[in-house]
Amino acid sequence: MPVDPVALTADLVRCPSVTPEEGGALVLLEKVLTKGGFTCTRVDRGGVCNLYARWGRQGANRTFGFNGHTDVVPLGDEAAWTMPPFGAEIKDGFLYGRGATDMKSGVAAFAAAALDFVADTPPDGAIVLAITGDEEGDALDGTTALLDWMAANNETMSVCLVGEPTCPDVMGEAMKIGRRGSMAAFFTVTGVQGHAAYPHRAKNPMPAMARLMDVLSSRVLDEGTAHFDPSSLQVLTIDTGNPATNVIPAQSKATVNIRFNDTHTSAALTAWMQEEADQVAAEFGVKIAMRVKVSGESFLTPPGELSDLIAGAVEAETGRKPELSTSGGTSDARFVKDHCPVVEFGLVGKTMHQVDERVEVAQISQLKAIYTRILNDYFA
Ligand SMILES: [Zn+2]
Repeated sequence: MPVDPVALTADLVRCPSVTPEEGGALVLLEKVLTKGGFTCTRVDRGGVCNLYARWGRQGANRTFGFNGHTDVVPLGDEAAWTMPPFGAEIKDGFLYGRGATDMKSGVAAFAAAALDFVADTPPDGAIVLAITGDEEGDALDGTTALLDWMAANNETMSVCLVGEPTCPDVMGEAMKIGRRGSMAAFFTVTGVQGHAAYPHRAKNPMPAMARLMDVLSSRVLDEGTAHFDPSSLQVLTIDTGNPATNVIPAQSKATVNIRFNDTHTSAALTAWMQEEADQVAAEFGVKIAMRVKVSGESFLTPPGELSDLIAGAVEAETGRKPELSTSGGTSDARFVKDHCPVVEFGLVGKTMHQVDERVEVAQISQLKAIYTRILNDYFA
């Protein structure tokens, strides 16, 4: 009996696994995979649950890896849901629930494909699944914990497919071969508070803040590269919180976010922003403190064997040649890329993180067929 990916998706959606809750999702997956001959190990760290599963010999010449997550984002406005968010109910060809697209259907489709594949045509090699319970959170103890544990236990992947939703509107239209880097910078400009009528006795931080934000946001970081859109710096907030009409404030704070391509590193961008901040501070006679938080560096798996394999399978099953994209936010592929070539392909992600998140039921089976073909072609 082939494993039904729709039923498995539904079972997973019924597990309330809002990050960092395991919610029963990994326990269920472990049970299903173990029954199908996979050796499963829970790799929990820092209160986060993760699951590693391998079929086949450790250290096999060809090991196909899959990375995904079973945690989901919070419900948001629960009253706005028209269907139970953990009900996995099907209406008009769509299965509803938090995680239906992002990405319990992806995990279910690959697990179903892998289980049937090893049962029907046992490959000369190994298949591993590294499934995390913390992709939507800080991800400090999620895929990173799995990769650390794998390195310590001589577990490897020759290639890795991440099953995040990658198609904007239509099944098969896009896959991701890289991602832009992402970082945030927090600035605090400090002057001297005073009476608005006696500015010579104060030091207003506002003009310095305005200049700094203008300097940073008006710089053209690049014009884009062969596989990436231009990098972008966005000012997200400038907070002074001054309710008075006669007081020069002492301090102003601002946050910027940068999405950067492969012409930059977070270190170089940090150095640039520090230089600009120092210059503005000197010019205006204020203090400027800067703190950065890096979510991930940009990376690219250059088009080649792995992207051809995935694109070929997608085209064979959907009739569409997927675009090789690097758009969107970060994903756990940013961790996997340090271990082996990684690409991402999954279904249409239109409703991810939304109220009434839903997946077209037919797409789950189609995704399983694509993943099955990928495994067939990889081990052929
Ligand atoms: Zn996701």
